[in-house]
Amino acid sequence: MDVSLAQIKTLQELNNLLEEKVKDLPLAKTVKDLIHGEGDLGASVMMIGEAPGYHETLQRRPFVGRSGQLLRQVMSQVKLPVKDVFISNIVKVRPPDNRDPKPAEILAFKAFLDREIELLEPKLIVTLGRFSMAKFLPDVKISQVHGRLHKVNWHNKNLFILPMYHPAAALRATRVKESFIRDFKKIKKIIAWIEEQEETEAIKAEMKEVLF
Ligand code: URA
Repeated sequence: MDVSLAQIKTLQELNNLLEEKVKDLPLAKTVKDLIHGEGDLGASVMMIGEAPGYHETLQRRPFVGRSGQLLRQVMSQVKLPVKDVFISNIVKVRPPDNRDPKPAEILAFKAFLDREIELLEPKLIVTLGRFSMAKFLPDVKISQVHGRLHKVNWHNKNLFILPMYHPAAALRATRVKESFIRDFKKIKKIIAWIEEQEETEAIKAEMKEVLF
């Protein structure tokens, strides 16, 4: 990792560094083009989308256009509190005409997103669409793995990944939307299960000290 990124200790510092380096980043012309991740440091779920669009760039917030409205509506429908979710993107600047992000663009933002994940230490990462899914689960098809919890080793740490369809795809097809909502309903149960696992691990560690 870049030395300057390794020294970053807060999300604010991370955003400041991203802004400082704006000239080196693809797609961005000015600091205003950068759409930072949004949410509390204590959020248990991190959702990672693709890239901001027109409305996100205008309002300078991730997921506020049509896809974002669906995402936030389903979040409220399944009673997933906003404070429990941090929303980010794999590329933090809008690609022209909302085209797919290119591999070089994803690569340019990678170290920043990686640091964001390290700082947040989310219990669960929900990938929205195939681009963020491919970061953790290369060589899989979203139609085959969406809604299934995956445990992956990432930077020598275990991460729980729940791949989901992108809300834009859900807006285009009723069947995808049904899957999107069904998968979303699993999030709270998955978090409860992960917390249970953590407690069991903590008890096991304590018992190791007292048992002889
Ligand atoms: N689509 C995304 O992937 N991200 C956004 O922030 C908005 C739309």
